[in-house]
Amino acid sequence: MGYSYDPENIFAKILRGEIPNQTVLETEHTLAFRDIQPQAPVHVLVIPKGPYVSYDHFAQEASEAEIVDFTRAVGKVCEMEGVEAHGPGCRFISNAGTHGVQEVPHLHVHVLGGRPLGRMLNPA
Ligand code: 5GP
Repeated sequence: MGYSYDPENIFAKILRGEIPNQTVLETEHTLAFRDIQPQAPVHVLVIPKGPYVSYDHFAQEASEAEIVDFTRAVGKVCEMEGVEAHGPGCRFISNAGTHGVQEVPHLHVHVLGGRPLGRMLNPA
């Protein structure tokens, strides 16, 4: 069983312009926008424009151009938001699937920063 992309997910609707978003950065293959329920002063979601469910799906099936564009966009967002590791730093999170408690089934990297973020995981 392979990856199955649902074109009606909320980020697909954002990409089609059916739902508004607060865009931080748009490139050929990538969109970055502010999370609607920010968990930190900086909370940006970076998504590819292509139909990828999760990071592992993207890593397996995206083109090199998409991967380079997406990765550079993450770096650019960090620079634009002032949260690079040589400054205050940040956290990248990409939830995937059931155990990862992924809510929206379109790859997104959360870029979180603007305050100390605590340890990576809560105890199970
Ligand atoms: P996940 O749990 O899938 O990793 O995270 C999904 C994220 O998408 C959540 O942080 C949630 O606040 C955000 N989100 C859900 N719906 C919308 C929306 O319509 N617009 C924006 N900007 N963010 C959304």
